[in-house]
Amino acid sequence: MEESIRKRVIIGSGSAAEAIFWANKDRITCFGDDEQRGKTMFGLPVIGIDEAAECYGSEAEYLVAIPSAHHILNRLPSGQAGRVILAHEALEGIDYTKFSYAKEARIAVDEVEQCVNLHRHMGDGVYIRSVDLVVTERCSLRCRECSNLMQYYHAPRDYRAEELLEAVEALLDCVDGLYELRIIGGEPLMNKAVYPLIDMLAQDERVRRLVIFTNGTIVPPQEAWAHIRQEKVVFRITDYGTLSRNLSRLEEALRQEGIAYDTSRIDRWSPCSSLAKHGRTPEALDAVFLGCCAKNLLTLLDGKLYHCPFMANAMNLGAVPPCGEDYLPLSDIRKRPQEERTAVMRGFIFDKINFATCDYCVGRPYGQGSLTPAEQAAAPVDYIRYEEE
Ligand code: SF4
Ligand code: SF4
Repeated sequence: MEESIRKRVIIGSGSAAEAIFWANKDRITCFGDDEQRGKTMFGLPVIGIDEAAECYGSEAEYLVAIPSAHHILNRLPSGQAGRVILAHEALEGIDYTKFSYAKEARIAVDEVEQCVNLHRHMGDGVYIRSVDLVVTERCSLRCRECSNLMQYYHAPRDYRAEELLEAVEALLDCVDGLYELRIIGGEPLMNKAVYPLIDMLAQDERVRRLVIFTNGTIVPPQEAWAHIRQEKVVFRITDYGTLSRNLSRLEEALRQEGIAYDTSRIDRWSPCSSLAKHGRTPEALDAVFLGCCAKNLLTLLDGKLYHCPFMANAMNLGAVPPCGEDYLPLSDIRKRPQEERTAVMRGFIFDKINFATCDYCVGRPYGQGSLTPAEQAAAPVDYIRYEEE
């Protein structure tokens, strides 16, 4: 009896949430996801995570399907009847490869596997979902509201394959598991060094998946495909309409090469690219970080690991005061004894919530923004430069 009336809420809305739904489908009450709230999934409402916790309280079961879940667990109540169930428990013994997904099957199944493995290792070591590797400061577009701050670069540069490889090797020495290395820019395909880099990274068995984020303006040249044509490589394309002038040619080439890709179009952007000091209290600073949808987009730029692309590029541009506590210099961290290295990495990635650089950012709250995406700026945008201390 108790079993039939218990509320079950799936926390998340991605591929792992879909798998958990199919595994429990008649027994799910709703989905809890801050980004997708107000929508429906499988005919069920998607509500905010706090709203779900308030509505269903400690009697419900919360089936967690968000890969980087360490910042949301303490928002979920669990009492005598209810409990929080992580993805590796919810999908124990389930063959999730047979389900149908919104994304291409091999991408979706890979995402479910990532979520399961991340949850299994939540309490030990350094297992992380993804790191964004910035390979260039250049972009083929100049979006006025680029959240990666590309519009501020007046003399953008490409990073060399050797320095990028060195940075990734330092990163891999500091983690126990990394499920996805994302190649980003700017527009990563602006940097020709990216092709041999993809080849080199794909040979490293510690790199499980390589995702190229691109804006549909560039089709790799013929000679590049021998480097790109790797089982681990996936393209994630953003469709900016007519600005993505080579989108269909790129998609056609990827199909011909048998490379997995997905293309998405985003209707609205949040205004989150301005650089200005807000003077927040420590509590307000914590709140802006915890309420930010970009807070776990770990970013590797010039050998330093940051929590998001805004912090990485703002610091790289000199647009915020330098703050050594807001990033990890991985070439130093990798030299430390393993126990100390793990403690530093875990502390930075999973526990730290107070970042001085967040005070220069508006923040990126969950949910849809209000701006038309990809409006172009005529020239690089000026900003105040902070000198090194
Ligand atoms: S396409 Fe636009 S949003 Fe994307 S990196 Fe380039 S400038 Fe930024
Ligand atoms: S609020 Fe902080 S974590 Fe979020 S995008 Fe801004 S700088 Fe990054």
